[in-house]
Amino acid sequence: SEFSITRFAPSPTGHLHLGHAFSALFAEDRARRSGGRFLLRIEDIDAERCKDEYEAAIFEDLAWLGLRWETPVRHQSEHLDDHADALARLAALGLLYPCFCTRKAIRKEIKSARNAPHHGPEGPHYPGTCRRLDPDEAATRKRAGRPFALRLDTEKALSTITRPLVWNDPERGSFTARPERFGDVVLARKDIPASYHLAVTVDDHLQGITLVTRGEDLLPATDIHRLLQALLDLPVPEWFHHPMITDTSGVRLAKRTNAPTLRELREQGMTPEQVRTMADQSAANAQPTLL
Ligand code: GLU
Repeated sequence: SEFSITRFAPSPTGHLHLGHAFSALFAEDRARRSGGRFLLRIEDIDAERCKDEYEAAIFEDLAWLGLRWETPVRHQSEHLDDHADALARLAALGLLYPCFCTRKAIRKEIKSARNAPHHGPEGPHYPGTCRRLDPDEAATRKRAGRPFALRLDTEKALSTITRPLVWNDPERGSFTARPERFGDVVLARKDIPASYHLAVTVDDHLQGITLVTRGEDLLPATDIHRLLQALLDLPVPEWFHHPMITDTSGVRLAKRTNAPTLRELREQGMTPEQVRTMADQSAANAQPTLL
């Protein structure tokens, strides 16, 4: 296959488990098999949830597994200027609006609305309260120092798109993104001048990623990322969303389900080879939810 630049992009909010190991090994394997490059990126824009000790553990666990990556490792938190540039471009296109709503206010608004809310992959759509806010009122609130997020006016954004938002999975073929499923997503949080969707799109581009490999849990998010690429005029990579690794009873491995961490497996005396085999076997048994 053609020369691929891949990445593994963990958030240092906890210890890596077998699912992460599979994801990282998969990305590295795709790069190596194509004579390409494998990069690591630390997704640490959420300073409250990210910890240095988890980051150190990520490097240690991945090295223990036998992975090697290029340095320096990109930290998203060190590139907020790049994210701000992208926001400025979207703002110049008139596609962003400030949103002052609290989560509580949004819940209340949705509850009291006459029509049932649209539900998207990230939950009920934002009801559009601040999209309809009078610009003078928005300016007054900003001057008063009220915190605000920046949301994408998704419908307006889509009205500026002239070509279909297609993307390719090298194994599963062509997909068409449907970002309207999400409603108006947050591109800059109140507490952080970026968001996962924005930072991942900008950073994958700036790192020259040609093949984004990640779990199927993030498949819907690709709709947003593909839209942002179109709006920002960025080249479109390929995506491969691998099935989610489950435990023997079929439960997806996740921090919240107490999946054993790589360091726990190591402390139990497992070798990197055994962990690799376990990850491959679980992956072979995992059911793709896509097809
Ligand atoms: N940082 C994200 C996570 O840990 C992954 C980002 C991605 O692969 O797009 O879930």
